[in-house]
Amino acid sequence: MKTKSLHNYLVEWRQDLHMNPQISFEEEYASNKVSNLLKEFGIEVHQGIAKTGVVGVLKKGTSNKSIGIRADMDALPINEINNFSYKSKIENRMHACGHDGHTTMLLGAAKYLAEQGDFDGTIYFIFQPDEENCFGAKTMIEEGLFTKFSIDEVYGMHNIPGMEVGTFGTRKGAITTSENLFEISFEGKGGHAALPHMGQDTLTIGSQIIVALQTIVSRKLNPVDPGVVSVTEFITDGKKNILPGKGLIKGDARALSEDSNIIIEQSMRQIVKGICEAYNVSYEVSYKTTCPMTFNESKQADSATKAAKSLLGEKNTNGDIEPRQFSEDFSIMSKEKPGCFVLMGNGTKGSHGRPLHAADYDFNDELLVTGSSYWVELAEQQLR
Ligand SMILES: [Zn+2]
Ligand SMILES: [Zn+2]
Repeated sequence: MKTKSLHNYLVEWRQDLHMNPQISFEEEYASNKVSNLLKEFGIEVHQGIAKTGVVGVLKKGTSNKSIGIRADMDALPINEINNFSYKSKIENRMHACGHDGHTTMLLGAAKYLAEQGDFDGTIYFIFQPDEENCFGAKTMIEEGLFTKFSIDEVYGMHNIPGMEVGTFGTRKGAITTSENLFEISFEGKGGHAALPHMGQDTLTIGSQIIVALQTIVSRKLNPVDPGVVSVTEFITDGKKNILPGKGLIKGDARALSEDSNIIIEQSMRQIVKGICEAYNVSYEVSYKTTCPMTFNESKQADSATKAAKSLLGEKNTNGDIEPRQFSEDFSIMSKEKPGCFVLMGNGTKGSHGRPLHAADYDFNDELLVTGSSYWVELAEQQLR
């Protein structure tokens, strides 16, 4: 693998980033580290796009062709429970999604491509803030990512716990779901717990709504087009001897196509309307898409798969992997430019096999050389 000789650098950078996690547009540490290293590699650096976002520009030869490769830099508000020497130094901040690894893999590719890359065209190394709340990509685009820089196509990557290191997956079409947050509020009439006939108990009504929402996925969606509807909060103003008059149900819905997202929203509105009207209480439903689904263009998915096959071999490459039920704000970049999002195994054992966002998860340093070599392979292939 091309970046093999960078192994020690990569591990050092990754563990340093791991110790210094920051969230949501506060990623100063990573932003400065990325900018300084890119400059050291001789790459043109544009810092401060969406506060902490960085774009590195590397041009060789005379071709007008270009490629954008994106990594995310943000951590999560989680207290790390691992006991590594490089454990997070900041309370309630942790790289529990492996973005420390994503940043490092792209840095490794940048170093190699600047020093020995064999390509003709321009490579844009995009380091974005705030993936987790789905504002980073959006803000970078608003601040000129695709107008200041002429980027033909974009690629992004996520590590996947539970998949072996050295294995790769992507697919044409939707690869990660949209995230949609919903809130259902309704108002009955509170009162005395011993006099229910004189009020309109919102707890009973809300419970019926929650049960009925379970039928959206099982009875309304086409079984081959998956989705999720999860109620995560049910809040009322009731107390032990007071009947609640107000109710608020919150939750999260995921869909792999625009069609199923519309079905989920419409069914939800219909269920709430029906039940609330039956009990004569007022209601309001808000349903907001916070992150769209990630859609891979066929041509870019083919290119991404081809690069994986030449790096990892046919048997470790899956060009038609199952879509994932998480959301990813790379979707906003690949809505603007043709793109492909790829997945790479983070390993199956210990902290490497723990789910993303778990307090005992860790990015696998064994993936650093593989992942950075993949970006080198892809960039050189696309800009041959
Ligand atoms: Zn995450
Ligand atoms: Zn992530």
